[in-house]
Amino acid sequence: AQQHLTDDCLFCKIIKGDIPSNKIAETDKSYAFLDINPLSEGHTLVIPKYHAEFFHQVPEDYLADILPLAKKVAIAQGFDQYNLLQNNGPMAHQVVKHVHFHIIGKPNKEEGLG
Ligand code: 5GP
Ligand code: ZN
Repeated sequence: AQQHLTDDCLFCKIIKGDIPSNKIAETDKSYAFLDINPLSEGHTLVIPKYHAEFFHQVPEDYLADILPLAKKVAIAQGFDQYNLLQNNGPMAHQVVKHVHFHIIGKPNKEEGLG
């Protein structure tokens, strides 16, 4: 998957290990790690090991891989109630331009993220 990553993207650097992260789980096509600014305990991001800004740009084989990993994370984190969120574009509150699913356990410390 390394050839699908870029040099100038924060989450590509996290996948490559160039920037440290708290890994929760991974597959050959997806990577799950703790959000650096969690809205609640265990707030996890699940990303494809493929650089794409938007959900609709992610190839089918990466999409097929990422939801089962998100399911495993939700179970592993012990969330009973949670949000599974994915933002596309700044008007939709996306800040990091590499596709990511948020898994945010409830109750939240704060409200937000649309
Ligand atoms: P967005 O608003 O783009 O959907 O969410 C981006 C998320 O990435 C935010 O929740 C933010 O806290 C998280 N984030 C930003 N930079 C880093 C980082 O360097 N490491 C980690 N683990 N999370 C980050
Ligand atoms: Zn990237």
